[in-house]
Amino acid sequence: MTNQPRYLSIRWKIIILAAIVLGLTSLLFIWQQHEFQSNELKMQQAEFREHSRIILENLLQSQTNQIRMLGELLLEQPGIADNLLHKRAAALAQSVQAISDELGFAQNILAVVFFDEQQKIQSVWGDTLYEEDVLPLAGLASNHATSRISLFCKQICARQISLPIYFQGRMVGSVSMVVGLGQLQNDLHALTQADVVVLKGRNQDERAPLGGMSVIFNTGQFSRELLSAAQNDDHWLDGLLQLQQAGQIYQLFMIHSQQFGGNALHFLLIRNITNSVQLVDYKSNKIIISGLLVFMLALCILYLMLRPTVARFSHLIKILPMLGNEPRDYTQLRDAYAVRPAGMALGRIWRDEADDLETMAITLTARLEQLNEDSLHHLESLSVHSNQLKKERDFISSLLDTAPVLILSYGEDGSIQLANAQATHASGVTDLVGKNFAELFIGISQHDFATEMAEIKSGNVHHLESTLTNQDGRKHNLLWFSSRLPVGMADTPIYLSVGMDITEHKQNEARIHHMAFYDMLTQLPNRRMLLDVMRHAMLACGEEKLYCAIIFVDLDNFKAINDGRGRNIGDQILVEIAKRLRSSVREFDTVAHLGVDEFVILLEELSGDLELAAAQSRVIGEKLCRAVSQPVVLHDHTYHLTCSAGISMFIGNELTTEAALRQANIAMTHAKTSGRNTLRFFDPEMQLKLEARATLEVDLRRAIAGKQFQLFYQAQSNTERQPLGAEVLLRWLHPTHGLISPAQFIPFAEESELMQPLGQWLLETACAQLKSWETDELTASLQLAVNVSARQFHQPDFVEQVLNTLAKTGAPPSRIKLELTESMVLENIQDAVSKMLALKKIGVQFSIDDFGTAYSSLSYLTQLPLDQLKIDQSFVRNIGISNSDDIVVQTIINMANNLGMQVIAEGVETEVQFQFLKESGCNTFQGYLFSKPLALGEFIDYLNRLKGDSA
Ligand code: C2E
Ligand code: CA
Ligand code: CA
Repeated sequence: MTNQPRYLSIRWKIIILAAIVLGLTSLLFIWQQHEFQSNELKMQQAEFREHSRIILENLLQSQTNQIRMLGELLLEQPGIADNLLHKRAAALAQSVQAISDELGFAQNILAVVFFDEQQKIQSVWGDTLYEEDVLPLAGLASNHATSRISLFCKQICARQISLPIYFQGRMVGSVSMVVGLGQLQNDLHALTQADVVVLKGRNQDERAPLGGMSVIFNTGQFSRELLSAAQNDDHWLDGLLQLQQAGQIYQLFMIHSQQFGGNALHFLLIRNITNSVQLVDYKSNKIIISGLLVFMLALCILYLMLRPTVARFSHLIKILPMLGNEPRDYTQLRDAYAVRPAGMALGRIWRDEADDLETMAITLTARLEQLNEDSLHHLESLSVHSNQLKKERDFISSLLDTAPVLILSYGEDGSIQLANAQATHASGVTDLVGKNFAELFIGISQHDFATEMAEIKSGNVHHLESTLTNQDGRKHNLLWFSSRLPVGMADTPIYLSVGMDITEHKQNEARIHHMAFYDMLTQLPNRRMLLDVMRHAMLACGEEKLYCAIIFVDLDNFKAINDGRGRNIGDQILVEIAKRLRSSVREFDTVAHLGVDEFVILLEELSGDLELAAAQSRVIGEKLCRAVSQPVVLHDHTYHLTCSAGISMFIGNELTTEAALRQANIAMTHAKTSGRNTLRFFDPEMQLKLEARATLEVDLRRAIAGKQFQLFYQAQSNTERQPLGAEVLLRWLHPTHGLISPAQFIPFAEESELMQPLGQWLLETACAQLKSWETDELTASLQLAVNVSARQFHQPDFVEQVLNTLAKTGAPPSRIKLELTESMVLENIQDAVSKMLALKKIGVQFSIDDFGTAYSSLSYLTQLPLDQLKIDQSFVRNIGISNSDDIVVQTIINMANNLGMQVIAEGVETEVQFQFLKESGCNTFQGYLFSKPLALGEFIDYLNRLKGDSA
């Protein structure tokens, strides 16, 4: 607890202080006065004692002289000596009586004793009581023969003077006069007004009167008790003693007389000084009272002098706080200071600090008024500035609020200082200020955010993504750019985070990701995704030492359905197959859709034993094939599908993902070639073939540059077996592998960019050949059928290329017949029609190659400007074997005839086929029955041979 000082006003402080000072001064003065009074009393007393002593001495002296004179007078009496000699005692006494009568013994002579020569008493006058006492003294007197005073005390004390008595010059005796002290005492009392007690002591130093010392004379009423008290007091030595008895004050002092030799005589003087003391006391009291009066007066004056000051002070103190009041009226304040409290007459005479204080207060008020005015002025200009600032701030905040991003600033601890409308809206919190940015917007603790922010602190812009559930309950993805505001903008670091809503972007990203990694039709992972999953699977199975398997499933004859029934049906079938495959395997196995009718299934966590794992894979593979072979019913139509599946096993990363896929693909191809609807495991032998193919691809690139290609010609003949022209077939004369079939390398060339220059080259070569044949009768009428690859045909400038080539070589366009396939023209029928029409204008002819294999609807045939249909070898091969194929062949021929098109059958090998075709209405043929594809020279030879035969 704190000690609250008690309030004591300055008035009382000054008064108390002054009172103390005054009081002390008065007391000192009174004490001094009192001391002075008592000292004076003492001095008076000492003076009195000295005075008394002198009186006593004088009295003693004068009495001694009187006695001596008396003795001498006595001795002058006639006949004294004679009377003594004759021992006339009565005469002696008579003489004394006579003198006494004559003179009157004022001296109080107690006795007169006469001694003879023998010192025997002859006569005694007066009190005989002293006889014994006087005798020894008389002897003393005769011895010295001098007149000397001696003192003796018996019952009372007396003085004795002995005088020798002479007769005729001889001392005949002596006379002793005994004189009492009564007169002396009386005289002393009369002169000093003091009571006198005579005391006898052995010497003057003795304190107490000797035993036997007698009180010779007592003039006062004081008791023996007083005397004995006085005797016991040490103050005897000082010879001054003050005692009280019965309400009276007595002063006692001793005078020692020297005049009696060894027998000291002490005179005790007792004075009643009650009155003197009372007078002193009275004087002292008077001084005290007057001192107190002076003190009171001084107080009054002090009070009167202080009162106005104090009143001014308290007045000022009361109104000074008004300075702090609002609103302030300074004039009123100044008036209030100038008002003087009533009863201040003195204050008007003597100025003091209070007046100074008043002046200062008034000055202060004036200053304050000035200050107030100044501050009002400043406030005004401040408000102008602040209005301007407010406008700017409103503008900035409206900018911030309009920005389609979340903008927030916050301190080091993450507490938000500023937030724009978007941020407020997104968070759903009305007042964001003071809330924690990290917790509210990022969804992490401030501690975790601090580590995130290390970059920002180093001055870099930091990127961070977060999700925020909006007021509408939807999750939003936000991308934050956070940075630190430049140092110096504030005392403490300020951070700025701008958040962009990237939800849509994210969704797009996810969609793109899905598109990139999933097949849009079946929603199954695509090749890229599969490869990714496979990489992970390889790592995992390597660690776990468990086998994985890749099953490559390829639908048999799907192309036929797709081309025949339309892509829509094909797609629906693929979706159904995808579902079946997916549901045939475990959840964690992957089913991917690679090509149109190609699916790849990745099986993970199979056995660690290869044989066992292979067995497991076979079971699953067969299950997959069964699933595919279940009939698919679509729009009241039932489709029967089969598939060929290839399985490749792997563990760890002994194979690359591509290699594993390739192995499975090879196995699948193997399954296909072994009659379809079957399942095969990868065989290393196949791998070798595959690798050979890969090198072929590399070689192919070199082949164009190295001019390793050659054109072979296969005759196309009429019913009379006479050649009408030839199909140009490409041959690759490989430096090490010899002649390579186009079936082996054309697909690779198609896949790569190689087909374009290759196609150009062969068209040019064929045209050049036609041009050179123009002049020869043997060849001038021949037409050349040139195979066009899909890639070639789909070139936007295909028409220009052909026109240019024709123009360049000068070949007759009507001798050129371009072979297209159904799928090539069906892919974009409008484009195909326009291209074909453009070339047909100058006479170029068109034939549909491999007709009948695509299961396509034949309605397109009417739209296309075709010259010829080429019945596919597969139908021709089955002539006479498959009844249905016979019907197909006949149908095609009829249809062509009906449409006014030529029809050619290819792959005619036997006479049976030839005859059947001829009978069915086919008029052009191509096949081994007539000629194999031949090199140019051989073909010319073949022509010449036929010419010779016919001729
Ligand atoms: P294609 O256009 O259907 O060519 C006919 C194929 O059948 C040729 O095989 C030919 O040698 C073969 N052939 C002809 N008559 C018979 C026969 O009686 N029995 C049997 N079994 N086969 C016969 P080739 O030359 O190996 O060509 C294969 C395929 O390569 C061609 O099929 C064609 O699609 C493509 N091709 C060949 N040369 C070219 C070319 O110059 N350009 C383009 N784009 N493709 C070509
Ligand atoms: Ca052909
Ligand atoms: Ca063909």
